[in-house]
Amino acid sequence: MLHELSIETSRKFEIVDITGDVQRLVWKSGITEGIVVVFTRHTTTGLLINENENGLLLDIKEKMEELIPEGAGYAHDRIDSNAHSHLRAGLLLNPEVIVPVEEGELVLGTWQRILFVELDGPRRRKLLVKVCSCNC
Ligand code: ZN
Repeated sequence: MLHELSIETSRKFEIVDITGDVQRLVWKSGITEGIVVVFTRHTTTGLLINENENGLLLDIKEKMEELIPEGAGYAHDRIDSNAHSHLRAGLLLNPEVIVPVEEGELVLGTWQRILFVELDGPRRRKLLVKVCSCNC
């Protein structure tokens, strides 16, 4: 069962907590035991699982800017001025996260949230959410 999740970001860099949206799609699927795969279809976005705490979200942004600064002479900037966004997405994040599902609920740690990271907004973004049943 493949669902699409649409996210409209409003800033250049933005972290959106999509845990509630993913949980609602798991409920909608009717699948109670299995896994859910969340996949972003863009080259300047990424996903991670971590704590949704404002200080930490700021730390993530600042560390990304420190590790991969904007406009540092990248080849891709010759055709498109967002090489830093591609590099942050490709080198520091993943296009997918996988979360176990038990009794219809996402199995996450107390502080774990599914976070979508916009690196070249604002844009309308599409994510895929695949809920797979397995009883192993
Ligand atoms: Zn580009």
